[in-house]
Amino acid sequence: MNIVIVGHVDHGKSTLIGRLLFDTNSIPKSIFEEVKQVCEELGKKVEFAYLLDSLEEEREQNVTVDTTQIFFKTSNRSYVIIDAPGHKEFLKNMITGASQAEAAILIVDVNEGVQEQTKRHAYILSMLGLKQVIVVLNKMDIVNYDKVKFNKIKEDIIKFLNKLNITPKYIVPISAIKGDNITKKSKNMPWYNNLSVLEALDTLNTKETLSNKPLRLPVQDVYKIDDKRILVGRIEAGKLRQYDDIIFFPSNKKSKIKSIEVWNKNKKEAQTGESIGVTLNDPLFVQRSEIICSHPLPKITNKFEANIFWMSNKLININEKLILKCATQETVCILEKIKKKINSSTLEIIDKNCDNLQETEVGNVVIKTEKPIVIEKFINVEGLGRFVIVKNDDTVAGGIILK
Ligand code: GDP
Repeated sequence: MNIVIVGHVDHGKSTLIGRLLFDTNSIPKSIFEEVKQVCEELGKKVEFAYLLDSLEEEREQNVTVDTTQIFFKTSNRSYVIIDAPGHKEFLKNMITGASQAEAAILIVDVNEGVQEQTKRHAYILSMLGLKQVIVVLNKMDIVNYDKVKFNKIKEDIIKFLNKLNITPKYIVPISAIKGDNITKKSKNMPWYNNLSVLEALDTLNTKETLSNKPLRLPVQDVYKIDDKRILVGRIEAGKLRQYDDIIFFPSNKKSKIKSIEVWNKNKKEAQTGESIGVTLNDPLFVQRSEIICSHPLPKITNKFEANIFWMSNKLININEKLILKCATQETVCILEKIKKKINSSTLEIIDKNCDNLQETEVGNVVIKTEKPIVIEKFINVEGLGRFVIVKNDDTVAGGIILK
């Protein structure tokens, strides 16, 4: 199960991740020993957040550990934490990555309560359609594990999340540092009668499979190996069998799947989420950006309505030229209309029918593309319903397609 951990800076994301890795024995012993030694030399207690830093360092030195994807396991299943915090471009990673997440942990410092980034991150979760949210109220040790304090912040967060149509599945009082209510119920909070963080995670549902939907396989690349042409890509929806009839969209070229190949081995069938190569019965000329489809075909259009989150510090005006990337497609586009813009922290509508968007504002916009592109609504097929906007090689916005 893919999860993201979000929350205001310093509320304890890194510490919680370090703790989750440590308590589930997911961290190499050598790394923990090293961190322990450094902490002792500095006369400090072991900081779990350092575990994450040292993983990051290791990643920078060589590629043994990838902190953009951190793994841990319970007896129930495996988890991947995508977009570990601490990365400079956390918000950007979150927007471009969170839509792959199936659940989120929103962490709030019980002393500080709901802060600006708590709200902003929650907003992004809701915008990306992430409904399975566990809230953890951290640093309970500092407030002497006080139930009254917990209940007060719990109420605030519920009130805010309800405005976003998010009902948290659990609200867990924790101390990431001390390990309270992480793997099992803590004796320090006998008044809390619900699940620990890991127990709560284990109750969540994995994403409904898109395998029963029509096939959507964006062509990422075409390789020529000897006289074979292999088309590669990730199946965003549907499944594919050998000998299936397929249609390339938008070119409308038709063929039949001759073989499905993964690392030079043949497969009879492949499902949503798999990255595969295919060969065809016919020697068609197709390029990156075409989508291999089955009926009913997706929409092709040069205009659609979307919600975008603007994350560049330079404002954007309507009609300015931008690059839109959706799956493997790429085209010039403009914001033709900004129907309304929203403050992503307070959720207030700032303006309607306006001319520009500024950093951290969410726009409900109409986008016009130069080339027609193949899209789906985000709620139907995420892989063809989300996109990023690039300006001068910098990702400046992420968005989801509404209609
Ligand atoms: P992040 O910015 O959200 O990743 O926050 P960190 O994990 O770096 O934590 C920020 C600070 O809060 C660090 O000094 C941590 O040691 C401290 N901290 C994190 N969790 C707890 C906790 O449960 N109790 C206490 N007392 N301090 C904590």
